[in-house]
Amino acid sequence: MSVNKMSENITKPVDQTAALTKQKEKVEVEDMVDNINKKTETNKYRNLYVIIEQVDGTIIPVGLEMLSEARRLMNDFNKKYSLNEKVIAVILGNGIKHLCEELIYYGADAVIYADDTKLNYHINKIYTKVIAQIATDLKCIEKISPEYSKEFKRPRYMFFAADSTGRHLSSTVLAELESGLASDINKLVVEDIDFRHEHKTKGQMLTFEKTLMMYRPDFSGFLWTTILCLDNKNPEIKRDYHPQACSIIPGVFEPLEKDVSRTGIIEEYIPEFDTKDLDIKVLSRNVLKDMIDFNSYKTIISFGRGIKESPEENIKLIEKLAKLLNAEIGISLPISKKPFKLSDKMNSLYITPERVIGTSGQKVEPTIYIALGISGASQHLAGMKNSGFIIAVNPDENAPIRNECDVFIKGRIEDVLPIMIEELEREKINQTKEGASAVVGTV
Ligand SMILES: Cc1cc2nc3c(=O)[nH]c(=O)nc-3n(C[C@H](O)[C@H](O)[C@H](O)COP(=O)(O)OP(=O)(O)OC[C@H]3O[C@@H](n4cnc5c(N)ncnc54)[C@H](O)[C@@H]3O)c2cc1C
Repeated sequence: MSVNKMSENITKPVDQTAALTKQKEKVEVEDMVDNINKKTETNKYRNLYVIIEQVDGTIIPVGLEMLSEARRLMNDFNKKYSLNEKVIAVILGNGIKHLCEELIYYGADAVIYADDTKLNYHINKIYTKVIAQIATDLKCIEKISPEYSKEFKRPRYMFFAADSTGRHLSSTVLAELESGLASDINKLVVEDIDFRHEHKTKGQMLTFEKTLMMYRPDFSGFLWTTILCLDNKNPEIKRDYHPQACSIIPGVFEPLEKDVSRTGIIEEYIPEFDTKDLDIKVLSRNVLKDMIDFNSYKTIISFGRGIKESPEENIKLIEKLAKLLNAEIGISLPISKKPFKLSDKMNSLYITPERVIGTSGQKVEPTIYIALGISGASQHLAGMKNSGFIIAVNPDENAPIRNECDVFIKGRIEDVLPIMIEELEREKINQTKEGASAVVGTV
């Protein structure tokens, strides 16, 4: 018998045993899949919680924007799944009870508020703990969603604002609740998705019901990333990841019209404070005025990374144009990180965070907005898209800014600006001459 023949004989029975074992494994895995899919349908995770920020008793606009998106999402959700899950606004502060009705008028089904002198100022550690307590509190849920209160553990979804307070708060609350977080989101969809993953599902295709698909613009707004926060269904590392939570970019969603006929449940939550946390005290707070007052200008000229070929010279051109148009100068966020070598004068004058336009900076609405060498990422657009008339200069006709502007000049800053400046200077001289002759004529 040749070695090959011999090995053939030996392998046959082994193959059969392997096939049987595989079949058994397959049946076991199919059972596991069935069980897992059945088990997910519990009442552990319910409702969408929207964390509202207020400053000195005024709800900040992104709070109402989030409520409007939450309303749309949960209306569709309840219709699709024949459920009755609610939009619950959560608000903390001192003397803020009167804001709860307002939140109902703008789309919430229920409001949970904590009103306490210790919550007068936002202290992240304290706010984190109180929000985590509220998110897991059964008494509040008994009153708001009694039908789900027996098994309730945590919110199904949570929204925070993607501003300096909300970005910090969302990460610490989700750490406390031991779930995941997607930041800077500007599109949301709920779907049942089939998903296979080596670790999450042990390589099996499983259904994840009611998954919050959280979209964010990445790579300068050129690509969308979809972020999912999925439970581990692999029995070896089984673990839930709820709530599915995100922070939402301000200015993306329109708030609902205020509807004073709307009614809802308002619940007070009495927080428990850890005496150790109360060692941190904010005694007073001064709000610094923006050093750059864009509101006083009818024209704003902003520049971005497109100045890169000759940064110093290009900024000089921009300065000249700004002077001719009596405009203030803004920048895109990456410019504030000082990506180019510039003179100290230019750095101190223009490369400052106060000049940033967008979600991380200021929101402006001038009569004319000129975007020079700016691609038009959504975070930048959120800060200037309500301007009266938008002009963009960019050699790339596929840059997203093109879809937002009224006039798109395909070209480089260094080529276009000298022509604009020359034309404006000529115009100015003509106006002066006309003015002079008009004066002469009246004498
Ligand atoms: C959480 C978060 C918050 C953010 N907040 C903000 C924010 O508030 N504001 C903000 O601006 N960004 C913000 N960003 C960054 C944003 O996503 C983009 O990365 C940024 O806006 C891109 O800046 P830019 O347009 O200057 O640069 P790029 O995207 O690099 O665009 C440069 C543009 O210049 C053009 N160009 C090249 N050469 C020339 C030339 N010679 N003349 C003219 N044009 C030229 C190119 O075609 C390109 O379109 C944020 C990002 C994140 C993740």
